[in-house]
Amino acid sequence: MFEFRVDASAGAARAGALSTPHGEVPTPAFMPVGTAGTVKTLVMEEVAALGARMVLANTYHLYLRPGHELVRDLGGLHAFMRWDGPLLTDSGGFQVFSLAAIRDVHDDGVDFRSHIDGSVHTFTPESVVEIQRALGADVIMAFDECPPGGCDRATAQAAGERTLAWLARCRARFEELGRDGDVPEQSLFPVLQGNVFDDLRVSHARRTRELGDWSGFGIGGLSVGEAKENMWRTLELLDAELPLDRPRYLMGVGYPDDLLEAIARGCDLFDCVAPTRNARHGTAWTSTEGQVNLKAARFRRDAGPIDPDCDCYACGRYDRAYLRHLVVAGEWLAMRLVSIHNLRFLTRLTEEARRRIGDGSFESWRREWLGRYRNEGSTQ
Ligand SMILES: [Zn+2]
Repeated sequence: MFEFRVDASAGAARAGALSTPHGEVPTPAFMPVGTAGTVKTLVMEEVAALGARMVLANTYHLYLRPGHELVRDLGGLHAFMRWDGPLLTDSGGFQVFSLAAIRDVHDDGVDFRSHIDGSVHTFTPESVVEIQRALGADVIMAFDECPPGGCDRATAQAAGERTLAWLARCRARFEELGRDGDVPEQSLFPVLQGNVFDDLRVSHARRTRELGDWSGFGIGGLSVGEAKENMWRTLELLDAELPLDRPRYLMGVGYPDDLLEAIARGCDLFDCVAPTRNARHGTAWTSTEGQVNLKAARFRRDAGPIDPDCDCYACGRYDRAYLRHLVVAGEWLAMRLVSIHNLRFLTRLTEEARRRIGDGSFESWRREWLGRYRNEGSTQ
């Protein structure tokens, strides 16, 4: 279980498949984010119909509400949210560092205040593993300290050291609970940190590998405000440091152009709230005009679909004029239809990338696709 098979490659890009107890995930793959156990406004049958094979849920949110023990008692997160496919939970680290009011970060863990009611909680490497064992996702993530983008080297180094120390503790607790026999089959992925400092990235990756034979790697600390070229250089460095036969999950990255750039640099799994968050603001992706905001007056009488190349339900059924009206009127249906489109846009992009890696046309297709997406890019 949790084997990763590489079917084809093109430079650093790989077309592969990750096996999990709930099925196989062809890669590259975009994972829709079901923050609180729901991909906002969609039922899971719709998420599956969009071509998504693996879904992500947030430990931080589910721990606070409704509580991981309740989810476990109700049969685990798969059953609770009616998703039979592969599932990943993050460690909650990113949310604690970005959403909650931090009280204290110390070697044992993080004390924080809930963003919901201000109550005080502590996450430790052990508790985060216990919560994710209770939720029961196929892939669970180690607790890491994600320093803010633009931090100095000393801050990045200290966060990296702490992340490595926490990783050893996560693994120990993970294995301890695994011996109980009463837990689902899961895989623990470490999270690689080091910000944009090359030597820290390399040493963090090497020391992480020394700590265990991991079945996959999370790449954290990117897409937190750094310049894009720093992200690409970091991914190229990591491509040389990570084993070829393990999936690499680039955490929090999911804009279409970033996805293609990262696939070209050896990343396999992605997640991002952008498809559904943008949908709530009427922002949609198109293959010929880049990102557009459907509120724009120029769409008032536009009888075309969001994207003529798209095969999603929204594009097959509705025109831009109607969608613009829904967005401007603040109708819930706008959020739903644009979410369907944006999610399909990304899953279709990864499906095509996979096919192109297989038939040898990935690199030329990628350049052509990015040129089209960017040159005629957003005019809002
Ligand atoms: Zn569409």
